[in-house]
Amino acid sequence: MKVIIVGGVAGGASAAARLRRLDENAEIILFEKGEYISFANCGLPYYIGGVIKEKDKLLVQTPEDMSRRFNIDVRTKSEVISIVPDKKEVIVRDLTNNEEYSETYDKLILSPGAEPIKPDIPGVDDSRVFTLRNIPDTYRIKDYIDQHKPRRAVVVGGGFIGIEVAENLHARGINVTIVELADHIMGQIDYEMAAIVHNHLHSKNVELYLKDGVNAIQPVNDHLAVVLNSGKSIDTDMVVMGIGVKPDIKLAKDAGLAIGARGGIKVDQYMRTSDPNIYAVGDAVEVKDFISGQNAVIPLAGPANKQGRIAADNIAGRSSIYEGTQGTSIAKVFDMTVAATGNNERQLGRSGIKYQKSIIHPNSHASYYPDALPISIKLIFSPDDGRILGAQAVGYEGVDKRIDVIATAIRAGMTVYDLEKLELAYAPPYSSAKDPVNMAGFVAA
Ligand code: FAD
Repeated sequence: MKVIIVGGVAGGASAAARLRRLDENAEIILFEKGEYISFANCGLPYYIGGVIKEKDKLLVQTPEDMSRRFNIDVRTKSEVISIVPDKKEVIVRDLTNNEEYSETYDKLILSPGAEPIKPDIPGVDDSRVFTLRNIPDTYRIKDYIDQHKPRRAVVVGGGFIGIEVAENLHARGINVTIVELADHIMGQIDYEMAAIVHNHLHSKNVELYLKDGVNAIQPVNDHLAVVLNSGKSIDTDMVVMGIGVKPDIKLAKDAGLAIGARGGIKVDQYMRTSDPNIYAVGDAVEVKDFISGQNAVIPLAGPANKQGRIAADNIAGRSSIYEGTQGTSIAKVFDMTVAATGNNERQLGRSGIKYQKSIIHPNSHASYYPDALPISIKLIFSPDDGRILGAQAVGYEGVDKRIDVIATAIRAGMTVYDLEKLELAYAPPYSSAKDPVNMAGFVAA
């Protein structure tokens, strides 16, 4: 069997490794248009901030390692420019010499990811305006900072990438302003939880403009002026655009594969596209929202890795099903941690799902043991049967643990009554005899 994989990072590399484990004899060719495969997207902001110091650390696996370890034909700087489904063939452009050639497949896996949205506003093409998706983007931003020592930066978009970038620019001594169109940053959480994060950002001297968008970016003398919809103008030395990503569907669309209403490649529960010989995974596809059952695009690394593995399982003849994405996510925001799982109020409202909510602010561990700090937990659940629909947590320590426990409870179809019963690890430095997750259950039930 000959399998071609397009895209060599989260979904693509996972699919390749899994396929090799399941089938020693398959011919596997992995095409990646960039220079690197299997790099740590999620670590990129921290290289800019100097938290991750060595470039090599961003490379989880080099093409050579992957070839040697898994016997995979890894071809970097090779862009798949079209698919010919009738002939089961892809056309590849070798970016080192611009030559094109074709390669046939028995099965094809697409994992081309998502592309940053670049708004159609004047000035966005200035060399001091950046987006962050891959290693070259990261070097561009870091080199710019190293060479030009900017004093001010505007981050457009308060999603988790924007916020991580803001923190890392701040770590480089840059005064950061965040501009966000919505009434709060971090769209995965609701306003009242985000308000805690807004305060934290203010305490770090990060300026926030909410309910305002960017109208234009204009060069003024040696700097830029970011002009907002409200008319406010912010002087800055650089801009990072982080207003979200959209599925990269070009190849799939040109090949006539079905595209869903949310703009991602349509796949079934086996991660198979409308062509039975072509699978698609990761940020490029539409998934089922685990809570609402509706189609959604949810660009996250964990789901991309799992879907890559599932596509490989099915190609190797092991029936494996993707049950949906619940959007479990977490981000470090300076000293705080912000995490969420399941649906928030906005998403539930949009789907017309009835819900009830409770918010508690217990200490992260026993209050008599030093350094206990509050953790705010919002639980959203069904008023009919108590099924957990979503949770958000904001605090300093132990946020990750609580959200992961609730994320697991959601997967298991548990209710707020079940949270009361969970027996969770306790000693004073870590928790309380009634863990915050139990408390969330007590208050909600
Ligand atoms: P990618 O990992 O983006 O890989 C797609 C690859 O396909 C790219 O390398 C691209 O060059 C290649 N490609 C595209 N088209 C072609 C073609 N025609 N031919 C050949 N190659 C092609 N997620 C989290 O869950 N947690 C985080 O903390 C987190 N932090 C992030 C921070 C940043 C700065 C970024 C950019 C993303 C972050 N993400 C995070 C999101 C996560 O990285 C993605 O969800 C995940 O990488 C998606 O995997 P993928 O395989 O679909 O796409």
